[in-house]
Amino acid sequence: MKTYQELLKKLIIFRQERSWEQFHKPKDLSMAAAIEAAELMQEFLWKTDEEVTAEVSRNKQRFADEIADTVVYLMLLANDLGIDMYEAIDSKMKKNGERYPVDKCRGKSTKYTNL
Ligand SMILES: [Mg+2]
Repeated sequence: MKTYQELLKKLIIFRQERSWEQFHKPKDLSMAAAIEAAELMQEFLWKTDEEVTAEVSRNKQRFADEIADTVVYLMLLANDLGIDMYEAIDSKMKKNGERYPVDKCRGKSTKYTNL
């Protein structure tokens, strides 16, 4: 099991070996992440819950690949912008905890602005 930092280092080396930093502007990385997320969504498009469950059990690797593609671009983007993902997620979870107190939102899908 690799740590986040080990994976990030691997991604950066992969990119450096190919001299792809020149293409990895923040705008392009954000677009690439969104495009990969759309590829993930495409795997679900027009399928019933039952069809999705069957598809995931048949082709889990395809879903894993699209999730990985999305996360890889986000990891590189965060790194390039000097964002520590651990801190970013921790900080966002604190904000989410304040926006969505358990006693007000448990079992509800209501947006925090309407709680
Ligand atoms: Mg992809």
